[in-house]
Order: sequence, then C-alpha cells, then structure tokens
Amino acid sequence: MNRTSFAILPLLFSPLAHAHPGAHHGNLLDGIVHLLTEPDHLAMAAVAVLAGIAGARFFRRRSEARSQDTRR
Ligand SMILES: [Zn+2]
Repeated sequence: MNRTSFAILPLLFSPLAHAHPGAHHGNLLDGIVHLLTEPDHLAMAAVAVLAGIAGARFFRRRSEARSQDTRR
C-alpha cells in the first residue's frame, strides 16, 4: 500500500469517529475545559501523546543507528 492510500484511510473512517453524542458548543474556554475534563477526549489525547513519543524514539534510534553505520 503506497502513501496515498494511507492518506485516504482517515477520510474513509472519519464518519465513524464520534467521541460522544452531542455537539461541542460554547466559546473557546468552554471548548478547552470540555476537552480537558471529558475522559474520552483525554484518552484520545493520551493515545496521541504516546504515539508521538513512540514515533520520536523510533526515529531517534534509527538516526543514531544510521550515524553509527556511517562512522565505521
Ligand atoms: Zn467532546
């Protein structure tokens, strides 16, 4: 599967991604408070943070391995 196919996947599944029933209304502060107090939003944020940390570690280790290969 090429990169374009991976980029299309989120578009196919986005209609299924409802955090919870109801709408997000109110001003910006209400929205921020809502995002920081709802468990489903916090869980998704935690998943995103963990994925970011795992990705950063992966790319750091890969770049370190590549730099060690070029030193030899
Ligand atoms: Zn919400």
